[in-house]
Amino acid sequence: MSTATLDTRVESFTQAPHQLFIGGRWVDAASGETFITPNPATGEALASIAAGGPEDIDRAVRAARAAFDEGPWGRMTPSERGRVVWKIGDLILEHLEELAQLESLDNGKPLTVARAADVPLAADLFHYMAGWATKLDGSSLSLSVPYAPGVQFHAYTLREPIGVVGQIIPWNFPLLMAAWKLGPALATGNCVILKPAEQTPLSALLLAQLIAEAGVPDGVVNVVTGFGEDAGAPLAAHDMVDKVAFTGSTEVGKLIVQAAIGNLKKVSLELGGKSPNVVFADADPDASVAGAANAIFFNHGQCCVAGSRLFVEESRFDEVVEGVAEIAKSIKVGDGFAEDTQMGPLVSDEQLRRVTGFLDSGRSDGAEVVTGGGQIGDHGYFVEPTVITRTRPEMRIVREEIFGPVVVAEPFQSLDDIAALANDSSYGLGAGVWTRDISKAHAMAKRLRAGTVWINCYNIFDAALPFGGYKQSGWGREMGHEALEAYTEVKAVCAQL
Ligand code: NDP
Repeated sequence: MSTATLDTRVESFTQAPHQLFIGGRWVDAASGETFITPNPATGEALASIAAGGPEDIDRAVRAARAAFDEGPWGRMTPSERGRVVWKIGDLILEHLEELAQLESLDNGKPLTVARAADVPLAADLFHYMAGWATKLDGSSLSLSVPYAPGVQFHAYTLREPIGVVGQIIPWNFPLLMAAWKLGPALATGNCVILKPAEQTPLSALLLAQLIAEAGVPDGVVNVVTGFGEDAGAPLAAHDMVDKVAFTGSTEVGKLIVQAAIGNLKKVSLELGGKSPNVVFADADPDASVAGAANAIFFNHGQCCVAGSRLFVEESRFDEVVEGVAEIAKSIKVGDGFAEDTQMGPLVSDEQLRRVTGFLDSGRSDGAEVVTGGGQIGDHGYFVEPTVITRTRPEMRIVREEIFGPVVVAEPFQSLDDIAALANDSSYGLGAGVWTRDISKAHAMAKRLRAGTVWINCYNIFDAALPFGGYKQSGWGREMGHEALEAYTEVKAVCAQL
């Protein structure tokens, strides 16, 4: 087995103590406290990180406020701003190998995946959003004003940045989630305080360096590492923050909404999922089986949109389940730096315990484990790719987000049955449909209550495709031009002529 060589720049980056990035300067946490981010493949210490708290959040918010209200950012032309955002994308590509290695070390994902997907997608997001900086148009409006007969008005709308934005991101795609949030916020002229997940702060810290190098003025982007309760909660509650954008669990999403009540800041949320992936009997046999496996096992199932509920039309149920189980057994699980690794460890000991806890609950509820079902070894946080059948709708493994490589499979009989079954969830983030019947595919897409429906594919993400959830999967959309709405206010201007 060959293993990738650790880049010397990555080695020195991880060994250096990491500070907070506030007002364009690297500073220690006010408390002086630090914490260790471990390598999930070994459980061993990877880097020392500043543990930001309420005082640091306050400093960062004030730096962002000053940058928004008085700094050069607001005076840049849209074209200049767009070029700076584009440059961030360029710098990400220039530092692709370092970022990919950091992502693999910190999160556990295979280096090959980080190189091919996470880092290029993050760069592409900045490139895509850069173009919008010059296209934030309002419109001119024709007024009638019935109580002002004969008076003429000139009315128009302006699209303006919201102001100071707090962004709280998770650990499953650390760099990409930072890009999804920072790209539209910067393209539209906002100032940001980014709080990365405690498990995976490293790529955001390197990104902060690249953002400064790209020419983003001081205070426009601030990065405060730390824990959710100490740094995330005060950010969501801060009265000088105009908007908070959050990705993570539905449980914490609800806390964010409560915290935002104080000054009624705007809130956008990208939360959990329990996404249905529906295979009809007429689907391409090989593509649907491979697609069902990819839908759940990509990123070790640590995807908010993972196809974790597999529904297969009865006549093909056994064959598809067997096919997915065969793929599960063949997946090479190991250290993300090993070139042949297809699935790395889960991100943390906590996540390992959570996923194995779900597996135990499935077994004790009477579900059948077709393959997998347990931890691999006792070093690092590895879990077997798992396929489960003979479930009942009320089981926890069917209803709750597991966020691991665990799929529950169930047969269905007809399109009417499956629409109801697929929608029987408090979530509505993603869904997959596999069929060669074009009208069935689109009829099903229309009936699914989900923010994204993939037909004969899964896990396709693009900067131009809006992403977000129905029901308890969130508020608002990221990516695409819809993301601009989440970061702008519309001002109506009315002049009497
Ligand atoms: P969380 O929702 O706790 O974490 C997401 C982010 O929110 C992190 O930066 C976290 O900080 C921060 N946070 C935590 N508590 C608060 C708070 N009270 N106020 C403000 N911010 C806070 O997810 P977990 O990491 O605990 O994972 C638990 C489960 O959540 C997973 O098993 C999965 O089901 C789901 N999840 C969903 C994701 C998605 O993409 N939709 C992504 C990640 C998890 P920190 O972790 O640094 O302490």
